[in-house]
Amino acid sequence: MGILEVKGVGKRFGGLQALSDVNLSVAENSVHAIIGPNGAGKSTLLNCLVGKLMPDTGSVMFDGQSVLGRKPHEINQMGISRVFQTPEIFADLSVIENVVIPCFAKRDGAFRMHAIESFANERAIIEEGERMLDDLGMLDKRDIHAGSLSRGDKRRLEMAMCLVQEPKLLLLDEPTAGMARADTNNTIDLLKQIRDRRNITMCIIEHDMHVVFSLAERITVLAQGTPLVEETPENIKGHPKVREAYLGE
Ligand code: ADP
Ligand code: MG
Repeated sequence: MGILEVKGVGKRFGGLQALSDVNLSVAENSVHAIIGPNGAGKSTLLNCLVGKLMPDTGSVMFDGQSVLGRKPHEINQMGISRVFQTPEIFADLSVIENVVIPCFAKRDGAFRMHAIESFANERAIIEEGERMLDDLGMLDKRDIHAGSLSRGDKRRLEMAMCLVQEPKLLLLDEPTAGMARADTNNTIDLLKQIRDRRNITMCIIEHDMHVVFSLAERITVLAQGTPLVEETPENIKGHPKVREAYLGE
């Protein structure tokens, strides 16, 4: 049994069957990549895991519990965190304030913006945020406005904001999309660091094969809404079905 078990998931948008009979099992503490051509249904699948979309059929079990019918924030509290394509940070707040907010969310179950100021005096929470920044090598940027960080550091900050919530499963939808090679490589290093240091499972949707092969232990290839192959990286290269899906051979 994986920490995430998807069985028979289907999702239709009007006349378009975006997902059909998707089965996916993600082993605890592994990095599992989902790849596939544009429009394959990768983001739709991810949206079904986080409560943004309700599948028409099938089941999604996380850590032994069904996520279906739960609201996104409830699923987040179960231990699933999602990293967005564009980092979702509070540009007008400092780096440490950004990290402290999700610490409260973890404790209170909701973002309580109005209460930040009073809470910000709570030493323990600030220290928790500082430890996370230190862990990710950005403690020196503690008091900088988040909006003025480089793109790579924004991504790093967003990861810090996710990780302080101590998720069991981190979902990443094309975390390096639109990045230059240098930032992509930094992101790979960051994700390796997270993978190696923490008890965390990662499910990563990615276009860039260099990223996939640098990180993933298992790869699921999705094409036209259905998983074609699930394999190790060694076995996926040159797999006839993968070549067919990508190259039309
Ligand atoms: P991927 O992430 O693999 O590129 P998506 O999951 O975004 O693919 O999309 C799969 C298919 O579903 C595409 O044909 C897309 O146009 C369609 N689709 C995605 N979201 C919606 C939506 N909210 N309404 C209608 N069609 C959608
Ligand atoms: Mg997508």
